[in-house]
Amino acid sequence: MTPNILLVEDEPAIQELLAFNVTQCGFRALQAYDADAAMGLINQALPDLILLDWMLPGISGIELAKRLRADQRTRDIPIIMLTARTDERDKVMGLESGADDYITKPFSPRELMARIRAVLRRRAPQMSEETVKVESLELSPVTHRVFANGQNIVLGPTEFRLLHFFMTHVERVYSRSQLLDQVWGDHVFVEERTVDVHIRRLRQALEPSGTDGLVQTVRGSGYRFSRT
Ligand code: CA
Repeated sequence: MTPNILLVEDEPAIQELLAFNVTQCGFRALQAYDADAAMGLINQALPDLILLDWMLPGISGIELAKRLRADQRTRDIPIIMLTARTDERDKVMGLESGADDYITKPFSPRELMARIRAVLRRRAPQMSEETVKVESLELSPVTHRVFANGQNIVLGPTEFRLLHFFMTHVERVYSRSQLLDQVWGDHVFVEERTVDVHIRRLRQALEPSGTDGLVQTVRGSGYRFSRT
């Protein structure tokens, strides 16, 4: 799954530099030149990470970060703040507004990419390439394989992403809309019952190994992946 990185930067030269580096690293770059354009893109689909310039025309980067943190739908999106400011007080303010990390311009693209990877690993474990184990299930993002009690489980691409998300977010309840955001990346143009269809397929695939009970329906709320 290619992570989508939303770049919010009004200076065209820096915007292009960011897009180039992000794309070179195998990410998908979404570009916005101000906060309103960024909100428009976020309303369509949640990005996996936002690189956010502090100084923007109109709504500032700090203000946008605060708004995103105040909204339940967007509050968990990792944010890296970009700024020309080096003052320690500014750094504190940036982090208090809800940024996960902070990088000062001019930055080395290499350092920026290392920070992006670190934040993604921390905030979105389903983006990582590490093998995940829950009970007798073992999922490898690198080989795209799933084993249950040693048996190979064959899954479609959506069921694979769904299971990967669940295995890295155990014991928590997710609504259909949240799953669409997190697994499909789109809660507007995909119908909620699509989630039910893929949950059913996932359970069917897990059933022969007796692990389908891990995927639980929480009445009135959504789904949970749970050991108990
Ligand atoms: Ca700027």
